[in-house]
Amino acid sequence: MNKARFYERTADGLICLLCPNHCRLLPGQSGNCLSRSAAEDGTMRLDSYARIVAANVDPIEKKPLYHFFPGRPIYSIGSYGCNLHCRFCQNADISQKKHSGSELTPQQLVLEAKSIKDNIGVAFTYNEPGIWFEYICDCAPLLRPAGLQTVLVTNGFLEPEPWAELCQYADAMNIDLKSFNADFYKNICGGRLETVKNNIVAAVTAGVHVEVTHLVVTGLNDSISEFIQLVDWLAELSDRVPLHISRYFPRYQEAAPPTDPTLIDRFVETAANKLKFVYPGNVAADQDTLCPACKSVLIKRHAYEVLLNYCGTNCQCGEKLPFIDENNSATRERNI
Ligand SMILES: [Zn+2]
Repeated sequence: MNKARFYERTADGLICLLCPNHCRLLPGQSGNCLSRSAAEDGTMRLDSYARIVAANVDPIEKKPLYHFFPGRPIYSIGSYGCNLHCRFCQNADISQKKHSGSELTPQQLVLEAKSIKDNIGVAFTYNEPGIWFEYICDCAPLLRPAGLQTVLVTNGFLEPEPWAELCQYADAMNIDLKSFNADFYKNICGGRLETVKNNIVAAVTAGVHVEVTHLVVTGLNDSISEFIQLVDWLAELSDRVPLHISRYFPRYQEAAPPTDPTLIDRFVETAANKLKFVYPGNVAADQDTLCPACKSVLIKRHAYEVLLNYCGTNCQCGEKLPFIDENNSATRERNI
């Protein structure tokens, strides 16, 4: 417990191998993600392990996950730090600075999650869960036998080996695909597009329920031609992966005006040519799910609220629908 993994000792300190940043740390230095640091004794210290900075009971739709236990609440927790540094970060208060937080051991987390009425599980969200790797690997094996789902809301920027391990633990993920431009990832976020693409493929292939979020930032990634490349790539992987196209608001170091809602509409229409489930995010518009075969309204939503009862994984027309709920959530084969 509480033991750091994925790092190596060097002659003068440590190199962290959890994410592609590969931070080189001298004793006393923190990683680029702020969550781990080199101790004087040559080991890696997990500074954010079990340190809770934000905790709420949210509708699952707010993660956003629209095809996973629709209409149900999920206990959502986060710590601090991130291994990306997006100029437009919508959550910089916790992602870009250290906090002391309050301690919640894996055992306490399970008790807390079980005590919440109708709760489906735990979402690791608000800041980047990938850098909370060891805590999640300690919590998830306790959540599953307690009948609780493990959900990650992540930037997908992690090395393949730890990522594969998280894929074994996670029941569902919402993964950001911030742009389809490698320079954007490098210059605006401090990351790598290829890593994120590979990790989306790995999660889908591992059988994790995946939904993808694309935040459209005014003037930075609002080119329709680049967006079409993103949609084509996702459709080739699976046209049933839900895509959430979200409106940006000025935050952190980015002052450009909020995304024009008509642009979100245009992106949604464009994506819907190739993908079966496309939703606008952070907008006042309805976000209904239609049956891809008969076009009947399966779920009516407004502002994260489910207004029409969810009726299961089969449409009345016979179409099988890609929803996960209590009837089919435990069917996935697991190695761990
Ligand atoms: Zn139908």
